[in-house]
Amino acid sequence: MSASLATVSYIGATILFILSLGGLSNQSTALRGNLYGMVGMALAVLATVFGPTVTAAGLPWIAGAMVLGGGVGLYAARTVQMTQMPELVALMHSMVGLAACLVGFASYVDTSTQHTGAEKVIHEVEIYIGILIGAVTFSGSLIAFGKLNGKIGGKPLLLPGRHLLNLAGLLVVVWFGREFIQSTSVAEGMTPLIVMTVVALLFGVHMVMAIGGADMPVVVSMLNSYSGWAAAATGFMLSNDLLIVTGALVGSSGAILSYIMCNAMNRSFISVIAGGFGTTSAAPTAAAGAAQPAGEVVAVNAGETAELLREAKSVIIVPGYGMAVAQAQHTVFEITRTLREKGVNVRFGIHPVAGRMPGHMNVLLAEAKVPYDIVFEMEEINDDFPDTDVVMVIGANDIVNPSAQDDPTSPIAGMPVLEVWKAKTSIVMKRSMASGYAGVDNPLFYKDNNRMLFGDAKKMLDEVLGSLKG
Ligand code: NDP
Repeated sequence: MSASLATVSYIGATILFILSLGGLSNQSTALRGNLYGMVGMALAVLATVFGPTVTAAGLPWIAGAMVLGGGVGLYAARTVQMTQMPELVALMHSMVGLAACLVGFASYVDTSTQHTGAEKVIHEVEIYIGILIGAVTFSGSLIAFGKLNGKIGGKPLLLPGRHLLNLAGLLVVVWFGREFIQSTSVAEGMTPLIVMTVVALLFGVHMVMAIGGADMPVVVSMLNSYSGWAAAATGFMLSNDLLIVTGALVGSSGAILSYIMCNAMNRSFISVIAGGFGTTSAAPTAAAGAAQPAGEVVAVNAGETAELLREAKSVIIVPGYGMAVAQAQHTVFEITRTLREKGVNVRFGIHPVAGRMPGHMNVLLAEAKVPYDIVFEMEEINDDFPDTDVVMVIGANDIVNPSAQDDPTSPIAGMPVLEVWKAKTSIVMKRSMASGYAGVDNPLFYKDNNRMLFGDAKKMLDEVLGSLKG
């Protein structure tokens, strides 16, 4: 393939990636967005493999790597449970970081292209920054993976003087960056490069270890953004324009998503970028000082729940992580259909951080074929709770916790929540009185107008559906 044809293909792929991102911003166009992305990626890979930079001798290596990587990816995608998706995403981010590190070291030791003067400095800066971002992304994502799947505790790790430690790490990185640029041979530059890589790996671990509880969603999208910048840095090292553009698209869209999530959780974007986010007011240990909810809870059974639903004119369903665990979305849809056939106005209220990944609930509801026009974002529906007869909270906890508004000492104080307690009756479906992801007690359970339907969400909803139909 000629260089100009490869360039045209790259431009085509770039346009497809932009269309893909545009498509993914709305549920009704998401499928098309995915298709654009797949075609764009196929075009990008073909143009690279058969483009002017790859020699015939390299093709078997590329083919081998693609079969291996594609095989692992296919296996992971087919076997992963929906609830494990965020962990898989974190693991994939770590792979991007690792790739950036490996490409950085490889292009440093590669002596086939000689750079001199300013070009040499620029190339070395690209390598240094690429490995730096890659190493932070790699180790940070591995820790996020461990935290999301529960292998590492969710509590923030608070090392004494941790901000000073981070600052010292930054100074070391800058100092060794100078040493690296001034080095005159690969052997001489290798020591500062390795020291910086180790410091960056430790920084990645420290940054994500210091973040905990309900603040993890922002970390996941921040690492998404970092992985984009790592890919862009790799593009600079390999002089591949498409990789630079693609990396920048991922990096900036991840940053925008992080910003939106910060707003949704009433957090500051700057403190997230600085790392160590959520370790002061949001530390679960602070809960000791917070007022503990007290009182009696009123339990109901499936029949009583069906009765409340049957008598209601308007119902809002608030799904959370437990609905994903129980895989109850199809029964939720059946209940929705049955109630709508009886003339009940049924809508869904989706919190931006419900579940364990951005858009988690939307994906599940779309899978169950819930119509998009009855699914509303938090800010669209929050004012409607006072006029609602029944709210069904299905496996959600933190996102409906009133202490976020009422208790300034609560670890989740300030986080916007769905105000379900303002409805005439709320019914919370969960298996026990256990707390949610943030480890915080929920006063909603004790409110006079709240009922608890204890049990696995799928099992209980099947019973509710049976009663409704019967
Ligand atoms: P929570 O984790 O707060 O609560 C989920 C509840 O579901 C639990 O209290 C649990 O109670 C219940 N549950 C679990 N399994 C079942 C089941 N089989 N049947 C019925 N209930 C079940 O989830 P939310 O969705 O309310 O909030 C999301 C939390 O996750 C927030 O704190 C958010 O910050 C965090 N987070 C979100 C991410 C995102 O991007 N969306 C990423 C990472 C974290 P019980 O054990 O009693 O059944």
